[in-house]
Amino acid sequence: TALMRAVLRRVPAVSGARLSDEGTETPALVFDADAVEHNCARLREVMTPFEGAVSARPHVKSHKCPALARRQLELSGGTCKGICAQKVCEAEAMAAGGVRDILLSNQVVSAPKLARLAALAASGCAVSVLVDDADQVRFASAAASSAHTTLGVLVEVDVGQRRCGVATVPEAVALAKLATAMPGLEFRGVQCYHGAAQHIRDYEERKAAIDGVAGIARACVAQLTAAGLPCATVTGGGSGTFEFEAASGAFTEVQPGSSVVWDRDYSDNLGPDGKRVGETGFRHALQVLATVISRTTALPNPRVVLDCGLKCMSGESGLPALLRVLSGKSEAASGAAAASTTQPPLKVVGLSDEHTQIELDLDDPRVVAAVAASGGGGDAVAAVADEMLPKVRDRVLLAPGHCDPTCNLHDFALWARGDVVEEVMEISARSPGL
Ligand code: PLP
Ligand code: MN
Repeated sequence: TALMRAVLRRVPAVSGARLSDEGTETPALVFDADAVEHNCARLREVMTPFEGAVSARPHVKSHKCPALARRQLELSGGTCKGICAQKVCEAEAMAAGGVRDILLSNQVVSAPKLARLAALAASGCAVSVLVDDADQVRFASAAASSAHTTLGVLVEVDVGQRRCGVATVPEAVALAKLATAMPGLEFRGVQCYHGAAQHIRDYEERKAAIDGVAGIARACVAQLTAAGLPCATVTGGGSGTFEFEAASGAFTEVQPGSSVVWDRDYSDNLGPDGKRVGETGFRHALQVLATVISRTTALPNPRVVLDCGLKCMSGESGLPALLRVLSGKSEAASGAAAASTTQPPLKVVGLSDEHTQIELDLDDPRVVAAVAASGGGGDAVAAVADEMLPKVRDRVLLAPGHCDPTCNLHDFALWARGDVVEEVMEISARSPGL
C-alpha cells in the first residue's frame, strides 16, 4: 500500500541486512552495538567507586530511542536508577518503551504538556520535573491535582551556565517551601547542572568549573536542610564532567547523556595528559553510514563527496570525523566490517545541506611518500589520489559532530554488530520539542 511504501522508504535497511549491502540505503543512522555495550560497561566502571552514594540517570535527549534506553538500563546494572528526559514527548516515548522512572530535567509550563506529564505519573511511572519560578510550581500542582496524582519537583539552581535555574539559594529555599505546601507535588531535591562545563576542553579547567558547581550544590543542600527541607536528590553532571560531580560528595545522581553514543565533539575534550580523549574511554557508537556519490582526482583538491549533509547530521559542533571506509570489494569479501586500525589519509573538509566533502590529505606522510615514489608533480598526485580515494558507491562511516540534534533528524537507527544489522530501532521520541 501507499502507506507501507511511505513507511518503508524511511527505513534504510531491515534486520539481517549488512551495512555494506547495496540494498542498505544511505544516509543511515547507525548504533554500533559493540561500542554501545562498551560504553555502558564503561559507565558502570566509572560509577563503581561511588556505588551506594551516587547513581546514574542517563539522559535520553542524546538519542531519543527507547530501545537504546532499555539496553542502557539493562547493561548498566544497578548503576542506573532511571532516565532523564528533556521534553514531554521524550518522557512519553520512554514510558511507552517500558521505562518507569523519569526525571524531566527541564521546565514544563503549558497546560497540555503538564496534563500529559501528570497522565504519565497517574499511569504508574515515577515522574519528576524542574521548577525555577513560583508560577511553574502552581501550574504543576494544578495538573497533578486534576489527574489525582503526584509529580516530583526539583528546584533547578543556576550553577554558572546562565540558562535556567534560580540565581540564589534563598530563592531555592522559597520555591522548595512552596512546592512542599502545594497539593499534588512532592519536593525531591535540586538540580545543579552546568552544560557549558561539559565542553571545556582543558581537563583542569573543566574540573575547576565543577568544583565551583559542587560548592553551590553543597550550600544549597545545607540551607534547604536547615529550613527543614532535606534534599533526597542532588542531580546534575553530563558526559564531560560527571566523574567530577560523582566524586565531589555533593551529588546523589549524575546525568550523562552523550556518553552512550559519544559524538566527535566529546572526543575533542582533553584528558589529564593534555591529549584528546578520543575513544580512550567511550567509543563512537553513533555513526552515520553514507555513500560516495562523486569523486575527482583533480588538483588542487582531490576529493569525494558523500550523500549526507546537514539534513542528516547537525553541524553546530563542527564537522563529522571519518571513522572508516567500507570499500565494496574488500569489506564484502571479508564478510565483516572489522575496524581497520589505520586511518586512511583522508580528511573531512566540508558539510552542507546535502553533502559532505572528504579530501585526500596531501600533507599525510603516506600521501607525500606515494607522490614522491610516483615521480612527483600533478600527474603523480592524481595517480595517488585515484589509488587512495574511495570509489563512487563505496560507503563510509562517520562520527557526527553532535549527537542530540543528529539523532533528532532520523526516524530509525540501525543497531549493527560489525557489518550486520541486528535490529532496526525507532527514534520514536524525535520531535522539534512537542
Ligand atoms: N542533563 C541536562 C539537564 C542536560 O541539559 C543535558 C544535555 O544537554 C544532559 C544532562 C546530558 O548532557 P551530555 O549529553 O552532554 O551528557
Ligand atoms: Mn549535546
